[in-house]
Amino acid sequence: MATQASTQVSPQTPTVQPIAALHHVTAIARDPQRNLDFYTETLGLRLVKLTVNFDDPGTYHFYFGNEAGEPGTVLTFFPWANVKRGVQGAGAVIATAFNMPAAALEFWWERLKASRDVANLQRVTRFGSPVLTFEDHDGMRLELIACDEGPAPFTRDDIPPHFALRGFHSVALALHRAKPTIALLTESMGYRIVDSAAEGTATRTRLRAATSGTTGTFATYLDILEDPTLPDNKLGAGVVHHVAFRVPDLEAQARWQQHLAHRGLRATPVQDRSYFQSIYFREPGHVLFEFATDSPGFATDEPLAALGGALKLPPQYEHARARIEQTVPRITLPGGSVVGHS
Ligand code: ZN
Repeated sequence: MATQASTQVSPQTPTVQPIAALHHVTAIARDPQRNLDFYTETLGLRLVKLTVNFDDPGTYHFYFGNEAGEPGTVLTFFPWANVKRGVQGAGAVIATAFNMPAAALEFWWERLKASRDVANLQRVTRFGSPVLTFEDHDGMRLELIACDEGPAPFTRDDIPPHFALRGFHSVALALHRAKPTIALLTESMGYRIVDSAAEGTATRTRLRAATSGTTGTFATYLDILEDPTLPDNKLGAGVVHHVAFRVPDLEAQARWQQHLAHRGLRATPVQDRSYFQSIYFREPGHVLFEFATDSPGFATDEPLAALGGALKLPPQYEHARARIEQTVPRITLPGGSVVGHS
């Protein structure tokens, strides 16, 4: 069906390698300390980088992931202390899902049930797999999907290592109309449809990256939730800002820029994000997509063992460090050190 959709790709369109997997997901949060505590203490992720928003250096940028913050495990937040709650609707990622070992279902059910930061916790079965769905304290929709795949997790004392979350399973994009987005995913990005099911007023279509199995088996799924009754997405706390996909290097990224232009999609110039290089564009359903390189990764400005232990700034802001440290909110990091003053 969708692979037969009309396409703007001409014979001159530069060929591109299929997308391997998700790279990271970035969302908006409100209270920085509460965000930091929930994702590290309750979900057991590692703070792999503490930096500032490169486009707004008075605010933090938190990166959570596995031990090394491998692509496909990384959930990032811009905590804006005074932002209102957003609306999770069409034109954005509406749910972010992690791989949960199947044997850990009861463990996570009890752990989430006991958390004051979790709302609307439910168990569902989707495409044959048990799923825990819930919202964090900002209303952000999260899911733990029983799936015995994924990279080595970060470990903490109160979560048995064989129960720890193992990177992303998928994201779900909410759309009023799925067809143009599915065309981009299947014709250009190398995804294929693997399942589909009605879900209330919506249709959920599950896709998987064609390269799954050769580049690792996590973060390779993507769900499209087509629902004409959804409100439009409105950015704010609890709302995903963008989803990033993995590309190997700058050369591949340059080819993508040309390829996307041939599809009528305008990508930004390459942005240096210190830990990866990125381009951004709006896919046809208005979701903000980023294509991010695997390199150099998070151990580029501090050793692996010390990731997330101090405020790191990109070179262009290092001269303003004293002022930035006065401006950003005071927070206590997982290791106990205190950053920020306001
Ligand atoms: Zn990003």
